[in-house]
Amino acid sequence: MFLLRRVSMINSSKVAVASATATKFSLNYSLKPILHNTRLLSSSRVIFQVDKTIQTPISPIVSSTTGTPKEASTVVLPPPTGTTTATSPPPPPPPPPPPKKSGKIGRFFKYTFGLTTLGLVIGIGMVTYSVYKETNPGEQSPQSAKRANGTTKKNVVILGSGWGAISFLGKLDTTQYNVTIISPRNYFLFTPLLPSVPTSTVDSKSICDPVRLIARQTPGEVKYLEAAATNIDPINKKIDLEHKSQRFSIGDSFVNDNEPIQSTIEYDYLIYSVGAKVNTFGIEGIPEHASYLKEANDATAIRQKLFNSIEASRLLPEDSNERKRLLTFVVCGGGPTGVELAAEIKDYIDQDLSKFIPGISKEMNVILIEALPNVLNMFPPKLIEYTKEVFKIQDVKLKTNHMVQKVDSRNVYVKHKISNDQSENLVIPYGTLVWAGGNSQRELTQKLSSQILEQKTARRGLLIDENLKVYGDDSIYALGDCTFTKNAPTAQVAHQQGIYLADYFNKLSKIDEFKQLSILNSDNSELQEKFLKKSIRYTTMLKPFIYNHTGSLAYIGSERAVADLSWNNWSTIALGGSLTFLFWRSAYVSMILGTKSKLLVCGDWLKVAIFGRDCSKD
Ligand SMILES: Cc1cc2nc3c(=O)[nH]c(=O)nc-3n(C[C@H](O)[C@H](O)[C@H](O)COP(=O)(O)OP(=O)(O)OC[C@H]3O[C@@H](n4cnc5c(N)ncnc54)[C@H](O)[C@@H]3O)c2cc1C
Repeated sequence: MFLLRRVSMINSSKVAVASATATKFSLNYSLKPILHNTRLLSSSRVIFQVDKTIQTPISPIVSSTTGTPKEASTVVLPPPTGTTTATSPPPPPPPPPPPKKSGKIGRFFKYTFGLTTLGLVIGIGMVTYSVYKETNPGEQSPQSAKRANGTTKKNVVILGSGWGAISFLGKLDTTQYNVTIISPRNYFLFTPLLPSVPTSTVDSKSICDPVRLIARQTPGEVKYLEAAATNIDPINKKIDLEHKSQRFSIGDSFVNDNEPIQSTIEYDYLIYSVGAKVNTFGIEGIPEHASYLKEANDATAIRQKLFNSIEASRLLPEDSNERKRLLTFVVCGGGPTGVELAAEIKDYIDQDLSKFIPGISKEMNVILIEALPNVLNMFPPKLIEYTKEVFKIQDVKLKTNHMVQKVDSRNVYVKHKISNDQSENLVIPYGTLVWAGGNSQRELTQKLSSQILEQKTARRGLLIDENLKVYGDDSIYALGDCTFTKNAPTAQVAHQQGIYLADYFNKLSKIDEFKQLSILNSDNSELQEKFLKKSIRYTTMLKPFIYNHTGSLAYIGSERAVADLSWNNWSTIALGGSLTFLFWRSAYVSMILGTKSKLLVCGDWLKVAIFGRDCSKD
């Protein structure tokens, strides 16, 4: 019944019957139950049509005249009811019901599940491979004075291990130069997530990639020296270096603060990317009393000060002014760093500390001070308004038009501009104070610019040309926060400059190599011309640096973020809210350099989602 659904009789003398060779039933016997399904036409030809949806193997249909097999079919016919005798063979088990057709929704889930599984397998495979590659770097070609073809390699010295330097190193063909990277900080710090460190949303180790690990990923050997450049001699192309061990709590033998180890290194090209230092605008008391948020250990210091203040306040009566002061966290500077830090601290207090320190949420004050009328000035007005609203709901106290005048160990003295001709002086007591007020040049940069005539007017950073070459010196290229350009001092700019400069240097090495080859082949005019032409071709390939702004992102608290995104200067989009927060997180994870760090940061977020943020002081 299930297998032979329809029998048609059509105009023919041939009779086609289903072969019952695989069954224990005779043809007559088996035809009976299906007769009521038979359509009788003006014909003597009978064809058994097998339902195509049934998965049973099919034995051939045999034509009675030719006997040639037409179609393979194994037809199982059920016995007619009431014909079974004691001697009959036992009836076969009833055939399975035809499988139900899965509907559209069923198919959708089936395909989605299949694709997700496939995606997961591919994703896990790729991550495993890149972690393996990262932790098991291959052989590097060793440094050498000459290439195999006899041309001389140039010495490239990179100063710094921040965004500019590491982006440059990552894209440079290190087999074409002898590269040395020098920095007092032996790791790259992913600064965009630094405001999440004081609250333990992200562990500081998760956003640090060791320079030695990065230097081992390159094709050619890269030397690393942990030292600070103390002086640059641009005429003789020499750099003075100084190594100072950090002070450890045990083992005085590690400490050489009083007798730092000094050295000198020569360069053919210098990649100058030492960043900037915090700008205090000469405001009295800031260096002594405020914390900065520039390095990983700054984040630890902020956390410790916060906990010191909170724990000390618990000893004082609730109505005491001193207790109120200790429970006031002040951030000065309404740029992305200040806003993100204030938001993170408020989240930490409301979402985690309040579980263990009853009442802290109501008692603790987070204040953000900004001299300008708005925070996040680089964002569109509607996102600024959105940030203000979120801060209001969160109870982060925004003090715009408040200019810091002076700081002492307990108070911030500010001038509040009420209108163009009216202002008031205020005193804001604090327990923890963070200064996030901008950049100024390092002493080394000031020293360097004072030695180059064309840099004499450079107050806010080195002046560079369209190829990032320092004006007045053909061997020094500068990038990132140590330069003064029309672009804002951001990681995005330094990163793009680093990539551009590496490409520029890859071409420069070709130009230099072909020029050398043309000299080496001066007795063969044909070869000489060929190499000269090649070097000219590479020279025409050197293009100026063009910055492509892809947008700005900032976390504003309560799992909300703002994003001002742009595509090649022709379209911008302003977003704010919880989805933007997810975008903010995924964008930052994708920007983290190493796979290990990406995984660690995601792990930190997962840990916080499950257990909450850590509440220990260290
Ligand atoms: C908390 C925070 C959050 C930020 N968030 C963002 C963000 O979300 N998006 C964004 O685009 N930008 C962000 N920035 C800005 C961004 O980090 C900087 O613009 C970027 O780091 C500049 O890169 P750089 O290479 O010029 O300098 P840096 O990254 O600062 O690196 C400078 C390097 O030079 C080394 N150095 C210093 N002195 C010497 C010396 N004498 N000799 C040798 N080496 C030396 C330092 O140790 C360091 O390794 C943030 C900055 C901070 C502080």
